[in-house]
Amino acid sequence: MRTLRTVAELKAALAQPRREGRRIGLVPTMGALHEGHLSLMRRARSECDEVVVSLFVNPTQFNERSDLDAYPRDEARDAVAAADEHVDYLFAPTTEEIYPDGFATTISVAGITETLEGAHRGRQHFDGVTTVVSKLFNIVTPDVAYFGQKDAQQTVVIKRLVRDLNIPVQIEVCPTVREPSGLAMSSRNAHLSDAERERATALHQALATAQVIVAAGESDVATILSAAAAELEDPQVRVEYLEIVNPETLEPITSVDRPALALVAAWIGQTRLIDNQLLSVPTSSRPPVAAGSNTRSD
Ligand code: AMP
Repeated sequence: MRTLRTVAELKAALAQPRREGRRIGLVPTMGALHEGHLSLMRRARSECDEVVVSLFVNPTQFNERSDLDAYPRDEARDAVAAADEHVDYLFAPTTEEIYPDGFATTISVAGITETLEGAHRGRQHFDGVTTVVSKLFNIVTPDVAYFGQKDAQQTVVIKRLVRDLNIPVQIEVCPTVREPSGLAMSSRNAHLSDAERERATALHQALATAQVIVAAGESDVATILSAAAAELEDPQVRVEYLEIVNPETLEPITSVDRPALALVAAWIGQTRLIDNQLLSVPTSSRPPVAAGSNTRSD
């Protein structure tokens, strides 16, 4: 594996493989790699000829300077982990390489960035994400890019970005990797004490409860949410949002009669965590397809 720091070096390294028509896969990360990131790399490795992992803690997607400063960083360890997954290139640029003096452009997706994470972190969070991801797509020009379902809204936003701007990249979304306790793996879990780590499993429990209730035939969102919220009733857990939405538009829904997306964000002490779960609906409770109609019900 080669670690490259500049756009020019990376472009030069990929020129020959691209001429040869080799399939290039990109896994964007902010480092502090864990099994979730590694699962994306493994998927990329199994589907692509050249695998590029980017490691860049993107300052523009952080709301608070203190959050940016506290973000865990260990490039040496990350390089070993990526090399173990047979990654070809680790692209680890400096902030100045990505945002040189005079940088003045923002890529902004409207609407779907204004709810959920956007409502709580501010839309500039996603502006930071879509701008840096657009840059990475232009720098690497991958055939395929891999993202985690863990950041569900981010995947919806990036798919919209790619569609709206006709960016020639295939987006693949990989399942959330969890601890045995159900806690979704996250670089931010490093900030949790043992007691907080235990408490943090409530996020997954709330989502799992929602799925159990839906599987049992409940479709009323208010009822599902109140059962899920009960799992989060703990004075040490501060819920920012718990919502059930349309998985494509992220618009709130009132009834789960087709696959839906449940999302939660909560503070455990000083650490903000997010998680989500696609809710699948028992076949019997899906709305019937009208006779003679060829409209899909799902
Ligand atoms: P980050 O370094 O947090 O920006 O994450 C880089 C990529 O890894 C994003 O596409 C995330 O959605 C993905 N990711 C983070 N945590 C997980 C996880 N537990 N399971 C699967 N993918 C993840």
